[in-house]
Amino acid sequence: MKKYYFQQTLVEPVSCSGIGVHSGKKTSIILKPAPENHGIRFRRIDLPSSPDIKALFKNVVDTNFATVLSEKDAIVSTIEHLMATFTGLGIDNVLVEINAYEMPIMDGSAKEFTSFIKKAGIKKQSALKWYFVVKKLISIHEGDKYVLVTPYSSFKITCSIEFAHDLIGSQKISFNPALDSFEKKISHARTFGFVHDWENLKKMGLGRGGSLENAVVIDNGKVLNKKGLRYKDEFIRHKLLDCLGDFSLLGMPIKGYIRTHKSGHALNHAFINKFLAEKDSWETRPIIME
Ligand SMILES: [Zn+2]
Repeated sequence: MKKYYFQQTLVEPVSCSGIGVHSGKKTSIILKPAPENHGIRFRRIDLPSSPDIKALFKNVVDTNFATVLSEKDAIVSTIEHLMATFTGLGIDNVLVEINAYEMPIMDGSAKEFTSFIKKAGIKKQSALKWYFVVKKLISIHEGDKYVLVTPYSSFKITCSIEFAHDLIGSQKISFNPALDSFEKKISHARTFGFVHDWENLKKMGLGRGGSLENAVVIDNGKVLNKKGLRYKDEFIRHKLLDCLGDFSLLGMPIKGYIRTHKSGHALNHAFINKFLAEKDSWETRPIIME
């Protein structure tokens, strides 16, 4: 008998709170189980009509310093790490209630979101999971940076970076949710930045909640965080986490092999635009377990 993949949601609601990295304000969220084909939606319970904002690419309005979604005049910001967690754990349907415009940054990684979701439990639903099944190469290049996807037997992603910086240098990592543990391999990797980046953000009125508690901060070739790095190659692991968050906005998982080199939110989003336009290069359908 053929075996298919089914959609998943949470067993029970779970809540957490923290501060927004840009606003510096305390925010609480409640992750609630949602029915089949609901997808991931954010609900602004602090606004009068509690509007919903679907976590879909068409709702992305800004990617400069965080991924911002907007629907019917309501916005929700800095959603990328929670979205990456849903993708990494294979979760399709969740209602995220939030009482502010910006998601809590937690410790700058997906570690706490992952442990809250594991605590809530993950449950298989009765509807089949639909995929973007990649049939042909789709790619985008910008100088030496690129993002591309090719047909593949399941889902795999490989990311690489090159920084002219001794501490980071060249790093590369792959993730395949069928073979690797998202929790162990990816979820603990934190956002990183250089001291001068933080200074510039603060001048723009951003990064008000940013600190050594929620980012790896580098200055003069040294990590300023007392406990150092969580993985030797924490930088590329976080890049991969961000990529999972960006590609999650397709609204369906991909059956294909994604490779990114030196990409960031902007190039990833340009790639998604191209991907959605090249309709001959993929089809959407459930897939059989191999
Ligand atoms: Zn990030």
